[in-house]
Amino acid sequence: MLTVFGSTALDTIRTPKKVLKDVLGGAATFAAISASFFVKPGLIAVVGNDFPKKYHNILKKHLDLKGLSVLDGKTFRYDGSYDKTLSVRKTLKTELNVLADFKPNVPDEYKKSDFVYLANNDPEQNAKIIKEFDDVKFSMCDTIEFWIATKRNAVIKMIKSVDAVVINDEEAKLLTKEENLIKCAKKMMDWGATYIVIKKGEHGSLLFHEDIIFPSVGFSLESILDPTGAGDSFAGAMIGYLASKKKTNFSEIKNSVTYGNVMGSFAVEKYGIDALTTLKRSDIIKRHKQYEKMVRF
Ligand code: AMP
Repeated sequence: MLTVFGSTALDTIRTPKKVLKDVLGGAATFAAISASFFVKPGLIAVVGNDFPKKYHNILKKHLDLKGLSVLDGKTFRYDGSYDKTLSVRKTLKTELNVLADFKPNVPDEYKKSDFVYLANNDPEQNAKIIKEFDDVKFSMCDTIEFWIATKRNAVIKMIKSVDAVVINDEEAKLLTKEENLIKCAKKMMDWGATYIVIKKGEHGSLLFHEDIIFPSVGFSLESILDPTGAGDSFAGAMIGYLASKKKTNFSEIKNSVTYGNVMGSFAVEKYGIDALTTLKRSDIIKRHKQYEKMVRF
């Protein structure tokens, strides 16, 4: 089984063409829904009692929600604004709300999960929850500038507790205090992770393992509407694919990265979570074939 833990949010997203207010978002939301095209994930997350029923229904359609807590108070809120190229995002506000003192509980049925994804979230909560699973075969985590700025040591501790880190290039530099991506990856491997994936937005990603580097391109698109959640969709696809294969050898990890690029490309084609919730498995198979053709020479 795959369990995804992390933020479930109401996002305000400001793009040059459109502003979305309090829409369904969150790193765990994007990652888990992306993974749901490969396996049925369990979601561990918290929302407040202001979380709209229509969003609850979307989560229910794709995920097992035994691990979703609804607490008195406001849902985690994120507010971010993109520049006109859609490649630079500025965080305007991060309101933790019910996420701030959340004491996550792993439902008994989830304890046997062999795959666990710690999506963007408080690194202390992430490092704590991973210990509550009985026998994890493969775990991954991500982080974001907010946590690197406020809890850097906890982020490093979280990295020690997982097999793989999936992180944006800018965040990798910020976290490791290195400028070169190979040096960034080596530092994170020294901290204890076995695999590092550094995402480079539309330019794809670099996968590192020991002294091997596997670069992969992004799926080229002519039009992008909203990049929010692309990285989470990438990571969700990776771990969802691996969980569906029940394998974690390097060759399958490389395959999982190609699905990451494909799912990330879908995520940016519509606003918010819309691209993922309207996607069909056949679309993924078709685009993955195009991707294969694109990169073969
Ligand atoms: P991405 O575009 O892949 O970086 O992910 C964006 C998602 O991450 C948004 O839907 C936000 O709700 C969520 N997010 C933003 N900041 C944080 C944070 N500090 N902790 C957890 N999740 C966050």
